[in-house]
Amino acid sequence: MGSYDVIVIGSGAGGGTLARHLAPSGKRILLLERGDWLPREPQNWSAGDVFVDNRYVSPDTWYDGHGKPFQPQVHYCVGGATKLYGAALYRFRKEDFGELRHHGGVSPAWPIAYEEMEPYYMAAERLYQVHGARGEDPTEPPASGDYPFPAVSHEPRIEQLSEAFSALGLHPFHAPCGVMLDESNMPYSACVRCSTCDGFPCLVHAKSDAEVLGVRPALEHANVTLLTNATAVALTTNEAGTVVTEVVVDHDGERETHTAELVVVSAGAANTAKLLLSSASEKHPNGLANGSDQVGRNYMFHNSQAVLAISKEPNPTVFQKTLGVNDYYFAGEEWEFPMGNIQMVGKSVADMYRGEKPLMTKLAPTFSLAEVADHAVDFWLSTEDLPRPENRVALDRDGNVTLNYESSNDTARDRLFKQLRSLLGELGMHEHHLIPRWAYLENKIPVAGVAHQAGTCRFGTDPATSVLNTDCRAHELDNLYVVDTSFFPSISAVNPALTAMANAVRVGEHLLERLG
Ligand SMILES: Cc1cc2nc3c(=O)[nH]c(=O)nc-3n(C[C@H](O)[C@H](O)[C@H](O)COP(=O)(O)OP(=O)(O)OC[C@H]3O[C@@H](n4cnc5c(N)ncnc54)[C@H](O)[C@@H]3O)c2cc1C
Ligand code: SF4
Repeated sequence: MGSYDVIVIGSGAGGGTLARHLAPSGKRILLLERGDWLPREPQNWSAGDVFVDNRYVSPDTWYDGHGKPFQPQVHYCVGGATKLYGAALYRFRKEDFGELRHHGGVSPAWPIAYEEMEPYYMAAERLYQVHGARGEDPTEPPASGDYPFPAVSHEPRIEQLSEAFSALGLHPFHAPCGVMLDESNMPYSACVRCSTCDGFPCLVHAKSDAEVLGVRPALEHANVTLLTNATAVALTTNEAGTVVTEVVVDHDGERETHTAELVVVSAGAANTAKLLLSSASEKHPNGLANGSDQVGRNYMFHNSQAVLAISKEPNPTVFQKTLGVNDYYFAGEEWEFPMGNIQMVGKSVADMYRGEKPLMTKLAPTFSLAEVADHAVDFWLSTEDLPRPENRVALDRDGNVTLNYESSNDTARDRLFKQLRSLLGELGMHEHHLIPRWAYLENKIPVAGVAHQAGTCRFGTDPATSVLNTDCRAHELDNLYVVDTSFFPSISAVNPALTAMANAVRVGEHLLERLG
């Protein structure tokens, strides 16, 4: 049994960032991570191993709303999901913090304004070495400074694509990227600009992930301890149920307990809900901090589509994720509702197409898979899914995660798809061929694609409708905080990690003040 000032549960975007922010304070910090260090090995950069054989997807079984088991796309390792992420580090739009009317319903306002988060976005962009260019994206929120590093340049086919979008009157921009690339001095650049970035771990530790830029720098401080293979299984409280007194941990198969003045849960949206629901007690019969019955509800994960277009010219791009288009973010030409964000994903290669039936059936008569790979231009379309109380993480009788999810805002998603498809001819692509990439999304079983999971413990000012207050402290407990994407009341249509990182810095400031 150990005693600490702060215990942080989970070392991903939220927890890893928080640990790093708290580390210089000298406070005794325990970081608990259920996974191990992700191994550095040649398979890190093998498309077959990573995408087809799912080498780094952790063994876990969840159940859908009908009780059907599935393997979620989760990554239990130091750094969490950021080890595999595409490192597209977007700020939410200023409007995402307010109420937004969508075709499929209302995206609720956050209890804090964008301006309150802005300084922490700056801090997170510095911490995660974001490369970008302000002033190109018309929907970009106001920023108090430049990106810390210049934008990653487009390769020739993507530059052409950018020009073609501009010729259509759109406003393509350089996507914000968390890679440690120094194009002005490549012999000394940590990042080698390879094709195996988005969805792969970085073998040379040049991706701005929460292991490399969160946990490792935190561990340089003697006051920070990391336990790997340490799963928090329950939180126990004092008799009154107002303070967490112990964190119960399964560490390498042995039961341990640890205590701390402050406990921060950052286990990812589903596992955070699981931990709170598993910690039910006499004072918290529906689960810890769950007097409102909101824990686990309002689960979101983006209404996303990974799609592939066929360029008329070959597309030899290596690092493709450099371009974004937000002209349809808030409305379309003949459509008054938000559609979402268009960005690139990592360049696909033939090895990734194994098992992609739509690709084979729709394209194979005309193109070989090798030709598809040579000409593929890969897009990622994100439409906001709306918080629905019925979309919910709950536990079955054996304590397993069940995930009830029904998509929302589907018409807006379909509009965005059709909008991009209608432009293909003018973008130098074969018309009509905009093919969904199933394996990338894990959407053969849609609920399994939990990469962007968020929203199971939303923050708010009203304890009846939210789990956390605006400091991300549980309304019902004095020393329990949550800093992963669970706190999101809405998910926007851009990638979630930077907002979790920025919020972790924001909450970190509050914790430091509280700890004196
Ligand atoms: C393939 C892929 C691509 C992505 N691309 C992007 C992108 O380009 N841009 C972007 O913004 N986002 C991207 N994301 C999403 C992004 O990675 C997540 O939004 C972000 O990591 C969420 O942070 P988090 O702190 O909520 O959870 P995580 O980063 O997942 O961290 C949770 C951690 O908690 C640990 N844990 C879980 N349960 C327990 C427990 N009981 N005890 C102890 N530890 C526990 C987990 O092992 C994990 O390390 C991507 C994700 C994936 C999988
Ligand atoms: S592109 Fe750079 S950061 Fe990404 S995997 Fe390759 S070397 Fe690592």
